[in-house]
Amino acid sequence: FNVLAIESSADDTCAAIVDSAKKIHANVVIKQHNIHEEYGGIYPMSAIGCHQQNMPYAIRQALAQSGMNIVHDIDGIAFTRGPGMPGCLSVGMNAAKSLASALDKPLVGVHHMQGHALISILTADREEPKYPFISLLISGGHTLLLLATSANSFQTLATTRDESIGRSFDKVSKLLELKWTDLGPGDALEKFCEEAPEIKCPIIPPFPSPLVGQLAFSFSAFHSHAKALISEQKQHGDLQLSTKKAIARAFQTGVVAHLEEKLILGLAWCKERNISVRDIVVSGGVASNMFLRRRLQGCLIECYRDVTYNLVFPPPDLCTDNAVMIAWASMHRFLTNDTDPYSIELRPKWNIEEL
Ligand code: ATP
Ligand code: FE
Repeated sequence: FNVLAIESSADDTCAAIVDSAKKIHANVVIKQHNIHEEYGGIYPMSAIGCHQQNMPYAIRQALAQSGMNIVHDIDGIAFTRGPGMPGCLSVGMNAAKSLASALDKPLVGVHHMQGHALISILTADREEPKYPFISLLISGGHTLLLLATSANSFQTLATTRDESIGRSFDKVSKLLELKWTDLGPGDALEKFCEEAPEIKCPIIPPFPSPLVGQLAFSFSAFHSHAKALISEQKQHGDLQLSTKKAIARAFQTGVVAHLEEKLILGLAWCKERNISVRDIVVSGGVASNMFLRRRLQGCLIECYRDVTYNLVFPPPDLCTDNAVMIAWASMHRFLTNDTDPYSIELRPKWNIEEL
């Protein structure tokens, strides 16, 4: 079964073709970074305009990459129904609906975060994650610790009280005046931390972690703390490169330690209820961070000498937004004929527990 999927919930215009045997036939992602970097974030009106301009090209390009014919080879059309920016989502939805209805193909509207969560089943190289598994979704708009019991059922163990981890990375990256890399401001911050400083970095004490012992995230304190350190340094003169680097590293280490603590609490929560979990799937744009991957792996080894958890990450380019994940998250619905009417509406605000 071949699915053509369209994703346009934020700033990337994406189209992909995936089959039910897990083969990715095409994956097109058109980024708009050059436009949004100027504003220091996603500017909705420009994002909508870019999607409108790029969507036809993204779809043509996906068909060309796959060598497939839309009439004869594509069996279903999927799109991101929500959550996301309404104007952006509607560009993708309208393209998907028009294609599906004109070509008489079945249609499925997908939850964007379900896409981020299930992609690791598609990309698992050894054993694929088995339900129930823990899904840690860390992205630009969300920070969710979930218990996934099937492709359509997710229970929230923890969410953020304020901003998402990705937004916090983006804000600190902006405060440090870093130039965006391909995967955005968060990726720029990671790369900046990796570069060796010219001179030894000053010591910045660890960032305090909020909500210790509670199954809830909070990231605004991390970026405010970074902001306070930066302005304090600026008052004492120029912000030295080595100081910037020390702040960036302390920030990154702090937010990752916050994630570690919540993950351990989530695993304990499962254990108390005799829910046997083996796999921990980490995805969403921030999961492309290699420092974070190493830290989480180390933390699990250190905390659990008697249990072996299987920590799973999708490849970095499938952590940030793409349409492959939307195609894959629609597959089980196409295969069980659980499709949507052509009159389906968007759900820009959509809790993953309401699937
Ligand atoms: P959501 O999925 O919640 O709707 P989104 O689709 O905008 O939000 P994603 O594309 O999943 O978010 O992820 C983008 C976020 O990931 C951005 O905040 C970006 O800065 C961050 N990010 C990307 N690469 C890295 C990295 N290496 N380290 C930290 N953050 C990163
Ligand atoms: Fe996303």
